[in-house]
Amino acid sequence: MKILVVGGAGYIGSHCVRQLLAAGHQPIIIDNFVYGHRDSIPEGLTVYEGDMGDIAFTQPILEKEQVEIVMHFAAFAYVGESTSDPLKYYDNNVAKTVHLLQAMRNANVNRFIFSSSCTIFGESSKMPLHEDLPLQAFSPYGQTKQDVEVLLGYCAKAYGLSYACFRYFNASGADPEGTIGEDHDPETHLIPLAIQAARGQRDKLVIFGMDYPTPDGTCLRDYVHVNDLSRAHIAAFDKLKTPGTELHYNLGTGKPASVLEVINTVEAVSGLSVPHEFGPRRPGDVPAAYAYPEKAISELNWQIEFPDIKSIVETAWKWHESHPNGFEK
Ligand code: UDP
Repeated sequence: MKILVVGGAGYIGSHCVRQLLAAGHQPIIIDNFVYGHRDSIPEGLTVYEGDMGDIAFTQPILEKEQVEIVMHFAAFAYVGESTSDPLKYYDNNVAKTVHLLQAMRNANVNRFIFSSSCTIFGESSKMPLHEDLPLQAFSPYGQTKQDVEVLLGYCAKAYGLSYACFRYFNASGADPEGTIGEDHDPETHLIPLAIQAARGQRDKLVIFGMDYPTPDGTCLRDYVHVNDLSRAHIAAFDKLKTPGTELHYNLGTGKPASVLEVINTVEAVSGLSVPHEFGPRRPGDVPAAYAYPEKAISELNWQIEFPDIKSIVETAWKWHESHPNGFEK
């Protein structure tokens, strides 16, 4: 199928592009290259550089390329920045998505896959997180994801849009082939920061909080491999054939790891020590967040190839070893 991957040069988008190719689909990329990396794009793929919120740019692409499904990975995702500059986040994550959906409607493209986030569940004390829990985001970033999910529901009912929202837990790891991986600027995620500290590219890792109500006092998170996330998206294509289909899936392994467990795993995989110290809690962090992934497993026949933190860190380590400075540097 012809798939338009919006944000296809980003971390998760670029992994999805590889998985689409492997599954025999034809991905086409739109990216504005604010965060995306040109070197992540496989040779020979059609790439349009521009603004997903510009209908005069996107609608002709949708029509000319005869796009069947749009996958949207092009969100801003720094929770802290969303609090200090909420307008930036509402503009990119909500307003531009509205325009993308309008362009799809104009071009008669009515299948949409949206990258959502487990942060829409807010500070739920009910773990694991399953799909029926109430949405109660508490950061501007999380609220933008929640707002788009709600809008998609209205679009399904009003226009017959078929959509799938995938709520990612902690996307991590890298394609085992070793040519693409995680390269954010600034980097805020635990696994790359721990690896960079082990490699001496950072002085140390600061662990945000040691007194959480968890077995070792550090936060529990559900690290899920980017290729596993990508394959769940592709597994939903068939279900989107019926107009007005609404799908929601929580994507995690269901097996959380603490910050200390991640550090221990990076040390075991790399054979190096991760210099670290304990610091204060990071505002907005919840003690634990992990998925109940059974819905995706049973309905999409989703196969988790990287079910534990070790297998995920191994792929991340391989990427960082071979690309110590990431892409294009
Ligand atoms: N974390 C940490 N030190 C860091 C970065 C992250 O202790 O320098 C912790 C953070 O508090 C959270 C976990 O690692 O409990 C995962 O954080 P990350 O930013 O990777 O993802 P999040 O769960 O915030 O989406």
